[in-house]
Amino acid sequence: MPRPVDVPALVAAARDGAPRAVARLISLVEDADPALRDVMAALTGHTGRAHVIGVTGAPGVGKSTSTNMLIRVLREQGKRVGVLAVDPSSPFSGGALLGDRIRMQEHALDQGVYIRSMASRGHLGGLSWTTPQALRVLDVAGFDVVLVETVGVGQSEVEVAALADTTIVLLAPGMGDGIQAAKAGILEIGDVFVVNKADRDGADATVRDLRHMISLGDRTATGLWRPPVVKTVASAGEGAGDVLAAIAEHEAWLVSSGQLRARRIARAADEIESIAMATLRARIGDLRHSHNVETLAAAVVDGATDPYAAADKVVGALT
Ligand code: GDP
Repeated sequence: MPRPVDVPALVAAARDGAPRAVARLISLVEDADPALRDVMAALTGHTGRAHVIGVTGAPGVGKSTSTNMLIRVLREQGKRVGVLAVDPSSPFSGGALLGDRIRMQEHALDQGVYIRSMASRGHLGGLSWTTPQALRVLDVAGFDVVLVETVGVGQSEVEVAALADTTIVLLAPGMGDGIQAAKAGILEIGDVFVVNKADRDGADATVRDLRHMISLGDRTATGLWRPPVVKTVASAGEGAGDVLAAIAEHEAWLVSSGQLRARRIARAADEIESIAMATLRARIGDLRHSHNVETLAAAVVDGATDPYAAADKVVGALT
């Protein structure tokens, strides 16, 4: 039997920043718990303060190390930092990934840092549903900055970019030059490019290459953001200041250009759509269960109707 959820008490505790309440709420998100509807209603009006920063890049490029470096400097600035490590390709959740365990050791006693791994666990809405809801929980819990780090590969990089206010794309010399970046579609999603492992040969060439590729893009027109390229050595803690300065500049641009609101509206629209789709899918499933769809299917097999007309009937029954 799952424990009953005392939503008002949980939300009140989360608003005070209580880590256990935050953890419980994010578990509800992961499990697509029925109490989520009430949770999200209770969070309404208390969100919108956290700056959401997506950290993305190929495996091994230094995302965990960089996230850790950024946490350290943000903490020095007195900011409270939430970290959501999302792995859309993994069915496992709740547990700490290797990189998190290392981070957790360093920040375990710091109440101003909350680190959580999250998987979408074959969730109907997937990443587009779970991540914004978890972000909302962290936002309400008063974290000034939330870093969303992708673990795993593939499409997730682009998906996470859609969830963040500012997306940082990490590259490393020799791993991803400008051409590779263009191929992977990450030139379009980066607001700030970071060439990490700048202690290695070829870092300056990668920076030049990236700047060139960015200048060829269509984002250089007046008024549009031109993504800066900065170098870091995350393992030595070098360059964090430059990254944070670039992020701050981007944040100022987001506000002055109206893009912050535009991005958040686009994000909410995606979320509404995925919740609506999941609701519809569940209701169609119910219809099937109650034999209406089976009856229509038999009619299609018997040649009494066609599948389009049958589908119209199913959709009609939903409203
Ligand atoms: P992730 O898979 O993108 O999260 O990458 P990690 O943060 O786990 O880093 C992968 C490896 O690169 C680790 O062994 C790090 O210690 C190493 N690494 C990270 N940053 C740097 C750097 O600036 N220079 C060098 N030489 N190694 C680094």
